[in-house]
Amino acid sequence: MIDLPIRDDLRGLSPYGAPQLDVPVRLNTNENSYSVPDEVVEAIGKALQAELRDLNRYPDRDAVALRTALADYLGHGLTVAHVWAANGSNEVQQQLLQVFAGPGRTALGFTPAYSMHPLLAVGTGTRWVDGRRDEDFGLDAAHAVAQVREHAPDVVFLCSPNNPTGTALDPAVIAAVLDAAPGMVVVDEAYAEFARPGTPSALEVLPGHPRLVVTRTMSKAFGFAGGRLGYLAAHPAVVDAVQLVRLPYHLSALTQAAARAALSHRAALLGTVEAIKAERDRIVSALRAAGLGVADSDANFVLFHVGGDQKAAWRALLDRGVLVRDVGLPGWLRVTAGTPDETDAFLNAMKELDR
Ligand code: PMP
Repeated sequence: MIDLPIRDDLRGLSPYGAPQLDVPVRLNTNENSYSVPDEVVEAIGKALQAELRDLNRYPDRDAVALRTALADYLGHGLTVAHVWAANGSNEVQQQLLQVFAGPGRTALGFTPAYSMHPLLAVGTGTRWVDGRRDEDFGLDAAHAVAQVREHAPDVVFLCSPNNPTGTALDPAVIAAVLDAAPGMVVVDEAYAEFARPGTPSALEVLPGHPRLVVTRTMSKAFGFAGGRLGYLAAHPAVVDAVQLVRLPYHLSALTQAAARAALSHRAALLGTVEAIKAERDRIVSALRAAGLGVADSDANFVLFHVGGDQKAAWRALLDRGVLVRDVGLPGWLRVTAGTPDETDAFLNAMKELDR
């Protein structure tokens, strides 16, 4: 190993990396299993073609047309001034930490939650505090508030629906954390479109909460993970603040054009959501019927207890051509809900594990 003078706080760390293995059934990164429909492929193709001659010029630095389309999609009276976009919600969250956290500041999340939140904290020199959820992975308002009071973080991450557990937060928890937090509160709603009926979005409480930021992505429900487009909704002052740290022209003209075309065909793209929710519910019922512990899911994935060593179960499923995710919770694995065929393959492989 060449001894490079990398930062002390990065030495010895491993990069984020879910295995990208070429197996028949890939259910480990919560992607949308359905490929992009023909009509959208055509629309994106045309939109990209129209940009090509102008690639000698920098793109719209403020991505105004795209942000306007995203605001229109979100509704809730939001406008271009409330919305910001970047290359995936990971980049949005990194920008939030760069501007509201960083060296000498603290971010708090409630583990187990999305594993990139602490890694983004490390990368931005932010001190990370691993807050705790309850034994059953729930989070009640009093427990969350006590931890916020104890650590007085500059940024609190809430994840709803939560990854890897799948369950949406009770809005009372978000309200209580907003009340108690001395700094910014980021609600990561990457999976919002899959929530069970009656689950409100934190977008509803944006008015009156200038320190609330809701992050969303086109990677999941929109089936646009390869397009890399994440965004946030917040008070316009937050959008102004992230301009201080964003790189100029961070969103390529091609990304902006592709995402705009995808948004204008959103009915076709989001048409898969109900089918995915049905597979999610089928997985939950089948695993529960088999006697396994399963977390309630408002997302396109399911966290389930394997009734033994999760590493061995992960391997055994992979040997049967089914790649799921070991999120590092002893005894638990996470599986993405995809097509009916993928569900069949997963459930059949699970049955074989029983024998
Ligand atoms: N938030 C959560 C909770 C996620 O699970 C993911 C993707 N796994 C992301 C954010 C990041 O998504 P992207 O950067 O593709 O928008």
